[in-house]
Amino acid sequence: MLEIRDLHVEIGEKEVLHDVNLTIGNGETHVLMGPNGSGKSTLLMTLMGFANYNVTKGTITYNGEDITQLPIHERAQRGIGIMFQRPPTISGLKLGKLLAATYGDRPDEIAEMARNLNMDRFLDRDINKGFSGGEIKRSEVLQLTAQSPKFVMLDEPESGVDLENISLIGHAIGKLLEKDVHIVNRKKSGLVITHTGYILDYLDADKGHVMCDGEIKCHGNPREILKEIKARGYRECLECRSM
Ligand code: ADP
Ligand code: MG
Repeated sequence: MLEIRDLHVEIGEKEVLHDVNLTIGNGETHVLMGPNGSGKSTLLMTLMGFANYNVTKGTITYNGEDITQLPIHERAQRGIGIMFQRPPTISGLKLGKLLAATYGDRPDEIAEMARNLNMDRFLDRDINKGFSGGEIKRSEVLQLTAQSPKFVMLDEPESGVDLENISLIGHAIGKLLEKDVHIVNRKKSGLVITHTGYILDYLDADKGHVMCDGEIKCHGNPREILKEIKARGYRECLECRSM
């Protein structure tokens, strides 16, 4: 579904990503880990097509099409979706209105979707305005559920969420990634950034990757990688090259 070849990305004058290679097949979910500031969010924002993330070299291919220069809305139309690490507040736009724009004007179904994420009281509120950290994350998952993307990118979905709501978010994300569908019939793919690994309980993660200094340094079983990081920290990732 997604193939990243030799990707180099600059923000302003600064090169943030270099030599990034990654292939994600149909129905696969990959997990991305790495220390703060290593470039994980930059990779997701670049794949979504945000304008200030400047691809200086390399290609992004999505379902066989080179989308490296495609504008953001055309990527969204092709089924690419993102849950931001820190989404903006949008004053004047009600959450319910945005959901109706992406999902269609079906208020009963939208209310049901919102209830499943404990967000039904928020449909008449401006997006993220005065929302707590956990409410923002639930609102993001709700927006993705309405969009139902084919390629789902999640940037630290569980950070700042209390344990009770992690289970709500986790189940909603599992549904987005068709966890209940048998692996051979699964169509949706995902790329998920996590620090804690809690979200792994709700996904069938196929592969894990560690990003350090703007480069993917290692691939492997996501749970094994997480165990290593918990035991030894990221420092050893800089030397280790278990590709
Ligand atoms: P991560 O998500 O792995 O914590 P980021 O992708 O957010 O890391 O950031 C990678 C690097 O790029 C950091 O050094 C960060 O300061 C820098 N960076 C990110 N966004 C910008 C920006 N808009 N302007 C300048 N530098 C940026
Ligand atoms: Mg980040």
